[in-house]
Amino acid sequence: MMDQIKIEAPAKINLTLKVVAKRLDGYHDLETVMQQIDLCDEIIIESVDEGIEVNSNNSEVPVAEANLAFKAARLLCERIGVTRGFRIFIDKKIPLGAGLAGGSTDAAAVLRGLNQILDFPLDLQTLLELGLQVGSDVPFCIVGGTALARGRGEILESLSLGPHLELVLVNPPLQISTAEVYHDLKLAELNDQPDNGAFLEAWYRCDIIGLAAHMKNDLETVSVVKYPGISEIKDRLVSLGALGTFMSGSGPSVIGIFGNRQMASKAWQTIKEVYQESFLVSSYIKDKGGIINA
Ligand code: ATP
Repeated sequence: MMDQIKIEAPAKINLTLKVVAKRLDGYHDLETVMQQIDLCDEIIIESVDEGIEVNSNNSEVPVAEANLAFKAARLLCERIGVTRGFRIFIDKKIPLGAGLAGGSTDAAAVLRGLNQILDFPLDLQTLLELGLQVGSDVPFCIVGGTALARGRGEILESLSLGPHLELVLVNPPLQISTAEVYHDLKLAELNDQPDNGAFLEAWYRCDIIGLAAHMKNDLETVSVVKYPGISEIKDRLVSLGALGTFMSGSGPSVIGIFGNRQMASKAWQTIKEVYQESFLVSSYIKDKGGIINA
């Protein structure tokens, strides 16, 4: 058994997000294209004698029970009946509460990392089941890349051979509650929902302009109306050359898609003067499954 592993945990964005129905269990059925981007937390897992311990360089990241990475580690250890312990360090780079699945991706990295440290006792299906118990976005974060997700996000269809995306991501200093956004959503009144079929056609043609036209999020009908700051960022990104803009998850992160890296970089140089938390990002390339060293 190896003693330590370092693993990348990439952020997730929603290229489209269509809310299909409210379910009896309180969750919503979605149809959403999810994409990993190269803005990553770094997770170090060390094998110790006993207990699960989580620490981070960011003091706002909860430790123990409240941390999704902790929950994931405990679930996996209980499932396998592991008697030893693990010390987990989260080097936080993904902004918190931004609609970027920061906690979910840490949980996914811990599940994959622990499974590797323990010499692969669980198959992918079991890891996905454990992941879903931690959160709706965790199964996607385990599979990674780009995927069309249905249900709560657990029915995944990986999309291959698409274009490489050049993006500018802006996270304005707003606190948005995901629960509140879903509560305020008026599903019956949505009349211009994302067309995932058209999005996928553009995806497989690698048609960036077509994609940009179909990047859309139903939750914007709540967040953009409630927080005018979000449409200000969208307008600014367009004036800086974005082909399209969209919000990720329940926000507040806003993303602009650009024709190439150079244009994205130029826009980022300007917008970061106004919005401190702005990032120049691309599609995450899965190399060695994100394992940095083992
Ligand atoms: P989502 O898009 O999945 O709704 P998010 O990206 O908006 O999530 P997170 O960054 O996951 O939000 O953080 C939301 C809250 O979850 C944080 O404020 C924090 O209290 C809690 N949390 C639990 N585990 C973690 C973790 N590993 N990293 C960051 N936040 C975590």
